[in-house]
Amino acid sequence: MDNFVEKIAKGKMKMHEEDSLVSSKDAVEIRRRAVERLTGASLKNIGSGIIDTETACRKNIENMIGATQVPLGIAGPLKVNGECAKGEYYVPLATSEGALVASVNRGCSAATKSGGVLVYAENKGMTRAPVFRTSGLRESKEFVSWVKKNFLRIKKVAESTTKYGRLTEIQPWIVGRNVFLRFVFDTKDAMGMNMAVIACDAVIRELVDKETKVKCISLSGNVCTDKKPSAINFISGRGKSVHAEAIIKKEIIEKVLKTSAKHIFEVNYRKNLLGSAVASSLGFNAHYGNIAAAIFLACGQDIAHVTEAAMGVTTCEMLGDDLYISVYIPNLNVGTVGGGTGLGTQKEALEILGVQGASKKSGENAHKFAEIVGAAVLCGELSLLSAFTSRDVAKAHTRLGRGK
Ligand code: NAP
Repeated sequence: MDNFVEKIAKGKMKMHEEDSLVSSKDAVEIRRRAVERLTGASLKNIGSGIIDTETACRKNIENMIGATQVPLGIAGPLKVNGECAKGEYYVPLATSEGALVASVNRGCSAATKSGGVLVYAENKGMTRAPVFRTSGLRESKEFVSWVKKNFLRIKKVAESTTKYGRLTEIQPWIVGRNVFLRFVFDTKDAMGMNMAVIACDAVIRELVDKETKVKCISLSGNVCTDKKPSAINFISGRGKSVHAEAIIKKEIIEKVLKTSAKHIFEVNYRKNLLGSAVASSLGFNAHYGNIAAAIFLACGQDIAHVTEAAMGVTTCEMLGDDLYISVYIPNLNVGTVGGGTGLGTQKEALEILGVQGASKKSGENAHKFAEIVGAAVLCGELSLLSAFTSRDVAKAHTRLGRGK
């Protein structure tokens, strides 16, 4: 081992070369010690994780040197009245932002005491949009006609790459000598990005390359749109589009949230709606990204998809002295199989929600998971909007975020 550490530290061996020579557990330790030598940093905490290096090195990470640990908290019980999620749930949240879990927990308490959150998720499908170069508009148009005419053949090739994924639609865009084909897949319990890429690649190799003259320039042409906020995802939805609503009674607003429906309504109007319009924001909400990030991190989701989940609209209306609140998250990419969902702590977090792994009826676990995330996002909105009305935000962050 010392020999390898020495070689890496002296630049005589690349970080990944040892992977084929020693076990993944040893490779992780060698790399970590080499990084300690190279940087002078002590990595004792990074090296003391409980992650299964064999699994992680096979599917989740390259050049692994250890694990980052993020504190994990729990909010709930949260009563969810969904199509798949029915009952009370405890929501795992991984974060280092003091006050976040307490805030979501308070929202869960208010919503649950009010009868729960009504929620439903639309399966919009995972998308991938390769870009093709053509010789001009005539060929662009001919290519799109070819795609439409051959849809069933394309579907057959795409679906030959997966037992679960289904190609539901191809949305074409022509821009001069460019054609973008936005492939839409039902990916069942998987978030589905790898599934979609593998299927698109097969279609291009087996059909487009052989039967047309257009050239695929990139498997992703950004019309997908993956890991970036975009109007197309906001309008069309991607992954799951989730809707949630609750009615919070006056007494609960006063007792649990320490405010009134009128104040929450006004903060939502002036902050989430007007302020977001002034800023030309794509997020007409207080902090969807906060709740999405904490659940994604806890449950092995691709954390970069928070860029998309942060978009959406919160509405508040007064029903007399009670409050109607809703959230709309057009773009939530979640899965209960694949990606990071098989790692030890992530798997357990999904088990807390009762959605770990593949469901008997394919797709049901991912659907249920999306509904729970939607309900938790609503609780986060409810609590933070309330905190702004009573100016509790700074106080809570001083106490819970600075430990004072
Ligand atoms: P994946 O781990 O690559 O694949 C999911 C696997 O689960 C497939 O092998 C699938 O079988 C299997 N599976 C078993 N039961 C299933 C069920 N009930 N429903 C659906 N699938 C089931 O994960 P993925 O969801 O396709 O992609 C997620 C990963 O993609 C994440 O790690 C993410 O970070 C990464 N990602 C990739 C890109 C990219 O451009 N490639 C972009 C963003 C993120 P089949 O083999 O039969 O389908």
